[in-house]
Amino acid sequence: MRLANKRIFISAAAQGIGRASALACAAEGAQVVATDINEEGLQSLASEDSRIETVPLNVMQADAIKNFAQSQAAFDGAFNCAGFVHEGGIQTTTDADWDFSFDLNVRSMFRVTQALLPGFLERAKATGAVGIVNMASMASSVKGFPNRLLYGTTKAAVIGFTKAMAADFVRDGLRFNALCPGTVDTPSLRGRIAAAEDPVAAEKAFIARQPMGRLAQVSDIAPMVVFLLSDESRFVSGQAVMVDGGVSI
Ligand code: NAD
Repeated sequence: MRLANKRIFISAAAQGIGRASALACAAEGAQVVATDINEEGLQSLASEDSRIETVPLNVMQADAIKNFAQSQAAFDGAFNCAGFVHEGGIQTTTDADWDFSFDLNVRSMFRVTQALLPGFLERAKATGAVGIVNMASMASSVKGFPNRLLYGTTKAAVIGFTKAMAADFVRDGLRFNALCPGTVDTPSLRGRIAAAEDPVAAEKAFIARQPMGRLAQVSDIAPMVVFLLSDESRFVSGQAVMVDGGVSI
């Protein structure tokens, strides 16, 4: 019960890392408000644990975020997980690609955090302990990857956002950390593998990136989310935390 008495907000919770994290937080006693645009996925998530409440929310819609924040009690923590992997280099990346990825991967965090901030401050005053986790990636946090120009740029921006927020609120009981996973076996990764010219070779290449010799499972990532949201990490803020199967060794 490492998250007992905490209300936690999670975006992109219908599948993949967000879903596993919602379940892991609930298993540790948190009241989870799990959001996504995939309403079917949310419904099946809610049926798995009574501590999980689900609310459809598109984190690219400013008004929806404001309405959501106004309709909710204060949160003790948040996992901003929503993000999209754009594949390509500078010759194929368009302005529209740039706007979409920055909107979803970075601006959404700015908007959600801004909207939830009064509640975070209220809870931090009461408990002294609010943790926020922002989804970055190993891509561009410590090394560049081919064909990830835009993705890596957005994830580097997430780390910048996280560190700046950590610096601004370190004396208010708010902690902000960025999570940097290696390659994780999720529905969207399976989609990228299936869309490759040679899916078998693509999967091998994804596995080969991790010196530990395998893809991460969502169960490798969710415990770090729990730790960073919990008071066990109370002396940790402003960090880009690698969970990457040895990529950054
Ligand atoms: P995924 O890509 O399989 O699922 C993403 C979820 O986000 C879906 O449920 C989708 O409905 C939701 N979503 C999409 N647009 C949304 C929007 N506008 N508002 C709200 N929800 C929206 O899940 P994943 O692979 O676990 O990726 C989640 C995060 O983890 C992303 O930020 C991704 O960049 C990051 N990440 C993934 C990996 C990986 O290898 N899978 C590695 C490092 C970081």
